[in-house]
Amino acid sequence: MFARYGFGEIRTPIFEDTQLFARGVGEETDIVSKEMYTWEDRARAQSEKAQSLTLRPENTAGVVRAYIEHKLGERGDLQKLFYIGPQFRRERPQRGRYRQFWQIGVEVLGPVSSGAESPVRDAEVLEMLATLLDELGIKGWRLELNSVGSSDDRKRYNAALREALAPVKSQMCEDNQRRAETNPLRVLDSKDPHDQDIINALPKIADFLDDASRAHFAAVLSALDACGVAYTVNPRLVRGLDYYTRTTFEFTVPDGSGLGTQNALLGGGRYDGLSEMLGGPKAPGIGFAIGEDRLILTLQAQAAAQALDVRTPNLEPSKLDAYIAPIGVERNAAALALARELRRAGLSVEVGDGTFRLKKSFEAADKLARHIVILGEDELATDTATVKIFATGQQVKVAMAALGGHLKTI
Ligand code: AMP
Repeated sequence: MFARYGFGEIRTPIFEDTQLFARGVGEETDIVSKEMYTWEDRARAQSEKAQSLTLRPENTAGVVRAYIEHKLGERGDLQKLFYIGPQFRRERPQRGRYRQFWQIGVEVLGPVSSGAESPVRDAEVLEMLATLLDELGIKGWRLELNSVGSSDDRKRYNAALREALAPVKSQMCEDNQRRAETNPLRVLDSKDPHDQDIINALPKIADFLDDASRAHFAAVLSALDACGVAYTVNPRLVRGLDYYTRTTFEFTVPDGSGLGTQNALLGGGRYDGLSEMLGGPKAPGIGFAIGEDRLILTLQAQAAAQALDVRTPNLEPSKLDAYIAPIGVERNAAALALARELRRAGLSVEVGDGTFRLKKSFEAADKLARHIVILGEDELATDTATVKIFATGQQVKVAMAALGGHLKTI
């Protein structure tokens, strides 16, 4: 799918300099303030200082770091990159939320002249996600999006939020009282049932967007309309990372999709100032990260809900072409040599062990493979193999020279 949309893979290191995340993701965020796995790396020489390193809690900062370090911007074109890999956050583990989890993500970024800032890019990324989820067979997904404007818009909005929260925050839960002080935007994420009326009455970011951000968001929405991608604008969607600007979004799945309370399948947004925040050139961009664990939980739960066996033929690993059963340890080496020959001819093969009794070999072979190839004294003497086809129960003697062809065709 990523290839069809012109993306290439990028692999960044599992850990990076702690400062990258502190500056990129933001000191005030939950990720940086509470959830990172950070350690002091030993200095190699006395003259060297120890370096603080961190297991990556997300991958956007690492990709932008690589973009800057390897001067990808100087190529002048749009960089369309995808990654798949583990991320680490010290969260409270529960269903769909782990301390090591996998993300599948993309980043689209480049110099302004490459069109990286264009609303076309936002709409393309969202349309690609809609197609991906449809092609995977995820049912009932919902796209919610919002614009958080420029960093100036956000400053003004933050000030307005603080002002609106000041007289009411004492009626809110402890978490929200703290957020109202440290990072008022986070109050909007709160699910606390008692605080919802207060939160819904707070000022909306849409009223603080400058003309350029407003026009950008309108263009994203009209491109989505043109592609027929359904969405809901959620004015409370601000997301937990500081680098977001303008478009932010989340795809959720309905209750009962196997995620419990963690119903966000993926999230993302635009980060037009991130490269400059990290000391790089201006490189607007947009990206997302899918929680791969959650994607799989959802596929399994939705398949089960349809009373389908999740191990439909599609998902069941296909059987090997052959299981070679040497009779007696003296035949082990010959079995390995035969496996090598068959594998080189493109067949998938497993080798048993000469100490196994025939019954055990048959059981193991039946689980793994379509055929069992028995290699005993007689067979080796006559340069043949005894082959049983599990599907038909048929057992035949085949000349060694013809074995590969026989296994492939039946
Ligand atoms: P974020 O990087 O916080 O924007 O998260 C993007 C997506 O990653 C979320 O929508 C989840 O699907 C997934 N995700 C985030 N944190 C976790 C976690 N601790 N365990 C499993 N999946 C996660």
